[in-house]
Amino acid sequence: MDLPLLKQTRGYIAGQWRDADSGETLDVRNPVNGDVLGRVPNMGAAEANRALDAAAVAMRNDISIPTRQAMLQKIHDIVMANQDELGKLVTLENGKPLKEAKGEVAYAAGFFGHTAKQLGELLPLPVRDVMRGGEWMVHRRPAGVAALITPWNFPIAMMAKKLSAAIGAGCASVMKPANKTPLSLIAFVQLLDDVGLPAGYVNLLTGDSRAIGKAMCEHDAVRVVSFTGSTEVGRTLIEQSAGKVKKLSLELGGNAPFIVFDDADIDAAAEKLIPNKFRAAGQTCVCTNRVYVHASVEEKFVNAVIKQVAQLKVGDGMTDGVDLGPLIDRSAFDKVHEHVTDAIERGAQRVFGDDPPRPADEWGAFYPPVVLTGVQPDMTVCREETFGPVVAVSRFDDESDVIDKANATPYGLAAYVFTEDETRAQRVIAQLHFGHVGWNSGTGPTPEAPFGGMKQSGFGREGGIEGLLEFTEAQTVVRETS
Ligand code: NAP
Repeated sequence: MDLPLLKQTRGYIAGQWRDADSGETLDVRNPVNGDVLGRVPNMGAAEANRALDAAAVAMRNDISIPTRQAMLQKIHDIVMANQDELGKLVTLENGKPLKEAKGEVAYAAGFFGHTAKQLGELLPLPVRDVMRGGEWMVHRRPAGVAALITPWNFPIAMMAKKLSAAIGAGCASVMKPANKTPLSLIAFVQLLDDVGLPAGYVNLLTGDSRAIGKAMCEHDAVRVVSFTGSTEVGRTLIEQSAGKVKKLSLELGGNAPFIVFDDADIDAAAEKLIPNKFRAAGQTCVCTNRVYVHASVEEKFVNAVIKQVAQLKVGDGMTDGVDLGPLIDRSAFDKVHEHVTDAIERGAQRVFGDDPPRPADEWGAFYPPVVLTGVQPDMTVCREETFGPVVAVSRFDDESDVIDKANATPYGLAAYVFTEDETRAQRVIAQLHFGHVGWNSGTGPTPEAPFGGMKQSGFGREGGIEGLLEFTEAQTVVRETS
């Protein structure tokens, strides 16, 4: 396969491309057909500790704020200059349509560009009042080595959020992308040669995620563990890092409600649901999982949604005009299918879509869109994150009832509210326990604004100024003056 950016597929430790100590590799496959795209090292705790040691040594370089700023801007420019090729890699390893993949690359670049502009916020700040006979100054110090772990659904953007903030704050990093989708990140690291980062400042591991994660939580130099992925693994990292009292930033699972009131612009709400719900074939943490529509507008809304869903094309993301690629693998397919089947068995109606054939092996897990109505709170599709192209519609009659239903989940990542009444919007949004809320909008996060979860969707923020501060520690210095 012609992949000019991918010169090799190894890990990166202390400025050197490395194989696993064992020589073992893991296959990275195209989810469309199982073709092997590359083989990456199956590394473990020993390689992780070497990378973490290298990062600790690299942290001795005190890179000035203007230099960090220039580095971040350069990374932004390099990523944008290679948007097409990086996008191609994202599509090949993840399956999402090429147009979306290129959008993901631009989104990733945006975090480097945005962080570059934020670094003035790290300058020391005097406390205005003179207290206790002294002058007080607050410094934002780099927290220490950063351990960064990301999932497969945004192979480059999820790491860009973390790495941009770590570099901006002055922290060396060890990155562990998902083994299913490490290639675009390997290509990205290869592009950093001219940025001037000291050896060991950015390291990349692939392999045994449990062993690597545990080593990260136990290594003395690691001060920040920044993780995006499932709530289950997030809990494991909380437990494993308790012993060394690490700073954690956790971006975990979601179960987003999409609420349509009777005074909403129904066609606009239906139109905005489509990219929100079907981006990455429904495999995003902010995509709508539960749709609540006021009973008086349900029929109109569902018809408008079906009209749009019927136009969506499912296929290989490299093919022009495809809107939905395959799910990441057969177990993702099985999960979606179980949710749909459970809903229908418990009384929901499938008003659009059919049962797709189960893939013969791990690959080609194409799941065409489904629209369900009559969804009830006890159905799995309502209680759990489906991570697939299913629009699950429930009706409601009453504002306070829909707020209770929307909040009736341990997750609190994203929610969407459609109403033309500003007073109602403010009232409802203030009662929703979700870190990101779209009002008449299905838009997800942007580099310029903080994003993160409440409740079991995690804690910590990415983007905005908050994302940068996750990788710093405030150090207060008092100087006696009288
Ligand atoms: P996952 O199974 O938790 O995996 C995420 C990452 O953690 C992967 O790199 C994985 O490595 C690694 N990992 C697995 N077990 C580990 C362990 N014991 N210690 C350390 N690392 C470990 O999640 P996923 O299924 O890939 O991703 C989907 C989930 O991510 C969904 O719940 C979604 O909502 C969530 N998500 C959240 C956000 C957000 O911003 N809140 C964004 C995107 C996704 P390997 O896969 O290589 O084993």
